[in-house]
Amino acid sequence: MQLASMWVGEVERWGIINGETVHLAPRDGVAPAGLRTLIEAGGGLPDGTDWETVPLATTELRAPIPEPRRNIMCLGLNYADHAAESQGTTPDQVELPESPVVFTKATTTVTGPHADIPVDSRVTRRLDWEVELAFVIGRGGRFIARDEAMEHVFGYTVVNDLSARERQKHHKQFFLGKSMDASCPMGPWITTADEIPDPHDLVIRSTVNDTVKQNSSTRNLIFDIPRIIEELSTVMTLLPGDIIATGTPAGVGFARTPPEYLQAGDVVECYVEGLGTLRNTIRA
Ligand code: MG
Repeated sequence: MQLASMWVGEVERWGIINGETVHLAPRDGVAPAGLRTLIEAGGGLPDGTDWETVPLATTELRAPIPEPRRNIMCLGLNYADHAAESQGTTPDQVELPESPVVFTKATTTVTGPHADIPVDSRVTRRLDWEVELAFVIGRGGRFIARDEAMEHVFGYTVVNDLSARERQKHHKQFFLGKSMDASCPMGPWITTADEIPDPHDLVIRSTVNDTVKQNSSTRNLIFDIPRIIEELSTVMTLLPGDIIATGTPAGVGFARTPPEYLQAGDVVECYVEGLGTLRNTIRA
């Protein structure tokens, strides 16, 4: 099942994608108001005959969880080839992290799967792309064991972890360089976990202006989803609706020769097999 959030006219709705149509959840006060509240309530769909079917094209998709309860949690350096390019070395010389490297993006980074992305020279001149598989926590918990971790995953989505490379470097920590407004396009929807039997075997790809920049598989994750859940939940209680991005493979802009950064007019697409495609245009 694909669960999406969207604007229908000026009204915020959510629903189930069915090909070229969407079944909109009723607005009767019985159905959860949004996907975050649906997940927090256990994920069960409301009964009723008041579902309304409209063409998907008449809606404007938003991020599936447009206003997360807390920051997006992100893995850094979770593909060996990206760790190598970040270190300016080759995969056989790379120093791999011994435990997951975790940072966050502010909630205000979240934007729609087809939204324009502002680029402002006061903020960055080095805006870079990072396609990532993200998962959404269903049932929360603390000290979640690795072999039970997948039972806590509600579903999957795609994010572009847009990054201001000079800020990431100057501030020594990742947070500011990762937290520009609208630097986390997300979606196009959440695909529920039952439809993705193996999230660790999905093609993951990005393009800029139709040129492939990143092309890998989630098979190449260094720390897999159970390990990430175990690590995070050892420190903090994971909450329903938490969004966790698993890291990006090689092929980002800053590591290219010469380096490449996103400019006004560029169209960046991020694809994960079975989950859909983000398509965002950079605007001055
Ligand atoms: Mg990233």
